Formats: sequence, C-alpha cells, structure tokens
Amino acid sequence: MICPRCDSNTAEKLLDAPKDKSWEVFLCQTCWFSWRSTEDEAVTNPAKYDEKFKLKPAELDKLLAIPPIPPLKQSGTM
Ligand SMILES: [Zn+2]
Repeated sequence: MICPRCDSNTAEKLLDAPKDKSWEVFLCQTCWFSWRSTEDEAVTNPAKYDEKFKLKPAELDKLLAIPPIPPLKQSGTM
C-alpha cells in the first residue's frame, strides 16, 4: 500500500477495530505515518495529501530531532 505522506510502497495494515472491524489503522514502514481508514481523503489518499506536508524518503535522515526536554527549574522560596 502507498503511504499518503511519503509515497513509499511500504505501508501495511496495523490493526482492525477490535469489535466490528468498522475501521483499520495503517502504518508506513518508511516515515512511520499512521492513519485510520475512516479519515478524510486529505489524509488517506496519496494524491490528495497536501504537498506541503509530504516527506521525501531520501531526506528523512536530514530531519532535525525533536529537542530534548530541558531539566525542570528549581522552584524558589515563596
Ligand atoms: Zn510514509
């Protein structure tokens, strides 16, 4: 299956809705995007996914890491 975000053919079904299989969740093995089958076509359809949010697999290694959370500030006396 084609990933809507990075257009790689590496997306697979992750799971079904537990009770009635009324929805499915898919996961891309390249960019780790996940989506539910019941979401809007702007999320689920590679052709309708907004170009400005697409990722290129060749550039994934260059993306910045999420900044670490700094240590908590010591609370002063009140
Ligand atoms: Zn992807």
